[in-house]
Amino acid sequence: MGCSHACTYCDGRAEKYFVEGNFSQDIRVRTNIPKLLEMELPKLREIAPIHLSSGISDIYQEQEKKYKLTRACSEILHEYDFHISLITKSSLVLRDIDNWTKVNKKGGFTLQMTLTTLDDNVRKIMEPCASSVNERLETIKAYKDAGCSVGIFMMPLLPGISDGKKSIEDLLEKLTELNVDYITPGALTLRPGRQKDFYLSKISECYPHLIDDYNNIYRENRASGSPSSLYLKKLGRIMDRTFNNLVTLPPHYYYRNSMPLYCELIILLEHMIQLYRYRDINVTSLETAYKKIKTFLSDEKRNFNRKRTLPGNYIDENLKFLLSTKAFNNIINNDKLTNFIEKVILDRKIFNYKTLKLED
Ligand code: SF4
Repeated sequence: MGCSHACTYCDGRAEKYFVEGNFSQDIRVRTNIPKLLEMELPKLREIAPIHLSSGISDIYQEQEKKYKLTRACSEILHEYDFHISLITKSSLVLRDIDNWTKVNKKGGFTLQMTLTTLDDNVRKIMEPCASSVNERLETIKAYKDAGCSVGIFMMPLLPGISDGKKSIEDLLEKLTELNVDYITPGALTLRPGRQKDFYLSKISECYPHLIDDYNNIYRENRASGSPSSLYLKKLGRIMDRTFNNLVTLPPHYYYRNSMPLYCELIILLEHMIQLYRYRDINVTSLETAYKKIKTFLSDEKRNFNRKRTLPGNYIDENLKFLLSTKAFNNIINNDKLTNFIEKVILDRKIFNYKTLKLED
């Protein structure tokens, strides 16, 4: 708990996470994590992707050099066939590239690196103890060269600092050069209380000319910390102009063979809704069908959890049966979508997130 990277905007400072003391100095280390992982992994009944992260710390922050907990987890995980992803702002992840590439050859590995600007002066103010921009770019390149997937978290984009068209364009150009697999942008949220107070004090100190804008954008003091809808619309327009057809979500087929089919289906439908909305395509019937599928699968999952004797692939086998006998359409009453799902689940076709079409 706590993070020595000391990002000024860190959500982990918010009261709701109960991290007491000085957030970037009083770090509490959970030394039993590898032991717990070793105990829990054999208990899993279904294959599943595993994501290593925390909203209130970075798993490759300074203390990891000494404690090597993430390293110990990588030693355990490369013995299994799970797809592993992790998120960090540290080039220390390079130390473990040996184990993560072993994982990549089995279930697959995705590095998610946070990077919001190419300006290292902004980085020094906003993420003072995280790796420099160049170190992160080198890390991204090393993982791409090693054959791993790399996704970029371009968040939070900071109003007046890193949310401008030119800044985003320059970063996108660099990331496209590095051939990253997807880039997920996001706005800054400031939860009222410790997080907001800390961040705004930094703005007053380093960017005093922006303080009125911030007070305006975050004037509603929403519990979620969301900025005003007017600001989000403005940011959305910049995204429309800069992102074009870039992939903003990790495609469903990344996790193929490392998660149950029914989970891949849910992820795909959620992504389709977002991708269609992004292109102003009406999603009403897709959303209706999605809700019905989710209810059906939740019931299946409850049943699976209750009956410990059911095999790990029980839900998938049921799903395949319903699709092959066309009975799936009785659940959603949508021929077109049933055909589409059949092609993804039974024929293993993939949905291209750029063209929005099915491919082999
Ligand atoms: S790296 Fe993440 S957890 Fe650590 S301070 Fe920055 S935002 Fe917070």
